[in-house]
Amino acid sequence: MYPQMTLWLAANRIDPSKQPIEIAGTEPYIVGGHCQAGYWIDDGRKTTLEGLFAAGDVAGGVPYKFVSGCWAEGVIAARTVVEYVKNVELGEVDDEHVEKEIDRVYMPMRKSGGVRPNKLEQELQDMMDKYAGGIPEYYEMDEARLKIAQKELQKLAERTKDISAENTHELMLAHDMIDKIEVAQVLVEHLLFRKETRWPAYQTRLDYPKMDDENWLCFVNSRRDPKTRKIDVFKVPYKQMVPGDRYKG
Ligand SMILES: Cc1cc2nc3c(=O)[nH]c(=O)nc-3n(C[C@H](O)[C@H](O)[C@H](O)COP(=O)(O)OP(=O)(O)OC[C@H]3O[C@@H](n4cnc5c(N)ncnc54)[C@H](O)[C@@H]3O)c2cc1C
Repeated sequence: MYPQMTLWLAANRIDPSKQPIEIAGTEPYIVGGHCQAGYWIDDGRKTTLEGLFAAGDVAGGVPYKFVSGCWAEGVIAARTVVEYVKNVELGEVDDEHVEKEIDRVYMPMRKSGGVRPNKLEQELQDMMDKYAGGIPEYYEMDEARLKIAQKELQKLAERTKDISAENTHELMLAHDMIDKIEVAQVLVEHLLFRKETRWPAYQTRLDYPKMDDENWLCFVNSRRDPKTRKIDVFKVPYKQMVPGDRYKG
C-alpha cells in the first residue's frame, strides 16, 4: 500500500524482517469509511436532500466499508440515481440565483489581503487536534475541551468572511476551508451530544468512559437550519439490517 515506506526503510537501512520498527497507532479517524459519519442515507443511498445521493466515505451510518464497500455503495447509488432521473422534470433556470452563486464562489478572489486558506487550515487542524480529540490527544476528549472547540470554531467560521485567494487553486482551497470548518462544527456538536464512549480509540469521552447501551444504542443525527445556522442534534433508533448481528439475535 505504501511504496514510500519501502523507500524509507531502504534509505534507513532497516530490514523489517530482522529489526522491529517503532510505530504509533494513528489509524482511527472520525469522518470517513472506517467510521459511521456522513450523510444520512436510505437503502438506495438517497440522502435527505432531494436529488442528492451519497456513497462511500460520505455515506453515514455504515461503518467499516473500506475501498471495496465504497465501490459496492457506488453501484447501489448509481442504480438508484438511474431510476430517479427517469422522473425528474427540469425546471426554469433562475438567472438571479446563478448570479448570486457566481458572486459567492468567486468572492475570495475579489478580495485583497484577508486570511489565506492554508493559514486557516493549520489553525483548524491544531485546534481540533487539541480540543476535539485528535491524534496528539490519542482521540480522547471531554466536555470542557469540546466546548472550547465550539467557541474556537465559531471564531474561525467568522474569519472565513475574510478568506482570500490569489488564483483558482487557492479558490478551491478557500471553499475547502469553509466546508471543513462547517463539518468540524457539526462533528463537535455530535461529540458533545453522545455522552458515552461508543468506540474507544475513535471517540473516547474521558468524562463518560463506558459504553452505555441503555441510553446510546442509537444513531446521532443532526440538521443545520440554513437560515439560523443552528445545528439541531437528535437520536435516531438503531436499526438492525443483518439478522444475527452483535446486538440483536
Ligand atoms: C489513512 C487511511 C487508511 C486507509 N486504509 C485502508 C485500507 O487499508 N484498506 C481499505 O480498503 N480502505 C482503507 N481506507 C479507507 C478508504 O481509503 C476509503 O474508505 C475510500 O478510499 C473512500 O472512497 P470514496 O470514493 O468514498 O472517497 P474518496 O476516495 O475520498 O474520493 C472522494 C473524491 O472526491 C473528491 N472531491 C471532494 N470534493 C469535491 C468537489 N467539491 N468537487 C469535485 N471533487 C471533489 C476528492 O478529491 C476525492 O478524490 C483508508 C483510509 C485512510 C484515510
